[in-house]
Amino acid sequence: MKTQAAIYFGGDPKVTIADIELEDPRSNEVLVRVKAVGICHTDIGMMSPDPFIPVPIVLGHEGVGIIEKKGKNVKGLELGDAVILSIDHCEACHSCKSGNPSYCENMMKLHFSGRRADGSSPISFDKKPVNAVFFAQSSFSSYAIAPSRAVIKIANDLPFELMAPLGCGIQTGAGTVLNIMEPQAGQGIAVFGVGTVGLSAIMAAKISGCHPIIAIDTNAERLSLAAELGAHKTINPENEDPIAVILTKTNGRGIEYSFDTTGQAFVIRQAVDSLFKNGLCVMAAGHGDVTLDGFSIVLGKTIRGTLEGGGDPQIFIPHLIELFKAGKLPIDKIVTCFPFSKINDGLSALAQGRVIKPVLIMP
Ligand SMILES: [Zn+2]
Ligand SMILES: [Zn+2]
Repeated sequence: MKTQAAIYFGGDPKVTIADIELEDPRSNEVLVRVKAVGICHTDIGMMSPDPFIPVPIVLGHEGVGIIEKKGKNVKGLELGDAVILSIDHCEACHSCKSGNPSYCENMMKLHFSGRRADGSSPISFDKKPVNAVFFAQSSFSSYAIAPSRAVIKIANDLPFELMAPLGCGIQTGAGTVLNIMEPQAGQGIAVFGVGTVGLSAIMAAKISGCHPIIAIDTNAERLSLAAELGAHKTINPENEDPIAVILTKTNGRGIEYSFDTTGQAFVIRQAVDSLFKNGLCVMAAGHGDVTLDGFSIVLGKTIRGTLEGGGDPQIFIPHLIELFKAGKLPIDKIVTCFPFSKINDGLSALAQGRVIKPVLIMP
């Protein structure tokens, strides 16, 4: 079929909306008419002069839409079903077989190679295949092809623009707290960086009854939103030393849990140094070397990473939707909508920190 997608050709973080040709879904795939798609920092992170992914490519990995076609082996999904597109897994590796699909050993290939496992792409532009299957969806497009195991059926009457970020950003932030940290009521958490992932962690920390919940960011507007969403204390590191404040807030003991969403080495160091003796620091981003005080780790601290918050999307996303319906996950507070035609405005608004979670509304 002919449709339109936003293609990234390389260079500056800008895309071009172009006419493309999309294959029919294969036996295990569905064709989804995309209704809304979030823009995530990972999309922008892919757009650089020396890209980590093959270009040209169709990005986008927080899609929501309606199934319009399905392959003959697709079970449990029907035409007309509303679905969230989420991360894929291979079902065959050790992690997948042991019930940890979010740590699939084929994760990188499935999400970042630009191709299906057999080397094909469902999208062509100018009569040539263009890279796609980004996070198994490439949903900066009016239609997307996705493997059926990576889509989660949802009720058709949910607000699609608020469901979109459940596929990545919200799942990562809330999942880190609810699936990895599993704090008890009364335990403390410090969240470094309060964009979509950090604010979702704060919402989840409030649900868990954490105390204190501490938000650290240099953006005053985001800090006040963090306070509105449940943070008991906010810290702007340009004005206060986060470690000193956290130690004061915890009677010198340090905090049970810290969460770094920035990926910056000096912030990760602060997140670890803020911890209680056997506290847990989770990193949702990071690149390059990080320097830590080795002896403080020996005394019992744990540092670990997460991709997408560590849950099984088929179980965890429906759980998040229940929390949303109960009013405990106020996603509307973080979403700003843009028409698909203004995708480059959405990309720059996110890159410059002017919005928290841009969501594109498809025509
Ligand atoms: Zn993402
Ligand atoms: Zn696997």
